[in-house]
Amino acid sequence: MTVLPGKSACYRCLFHRPPPSTPVQGLLGVVPGVIGTIQAAEAIKYLVHVGELLTDRLFTFDALLIASHIVQVKRNKQCPLCGEHPLIKQVEDNPFMGS
Ligand SMILES: [Zn+2]
Repeated sequence: MTVLPGKSACYRCLFHRPPPSTPVQGLLGVVPGVIGTIQAAEAIKYLVHVGELLTDRLFTFDALLIASHIVQVKRNKQCPLCGEHPLIKQVEDNPFMGS
């Protein structure tokens, strides 16, 4: 998902907690490479104003099945980070992060 701050859904619009620092079931080593390549493509598209960004759409990739999906999402007005009344204004405000 590509996030344009103040314009599109952010991670916190969808998930109330940050992801675990260490994946519970491990991570297949090639997955970060696949996703990183897609993220690089998104950055290039944004910089040169071509194509359609993954804003308000969550891209998922399952390496075990070699399957991908795109889920439409929308900005949450109650989001603690980008909502109308944000509670998280800096990292220290995040109740799930140690200070
Ligand atoms: Zn948000």
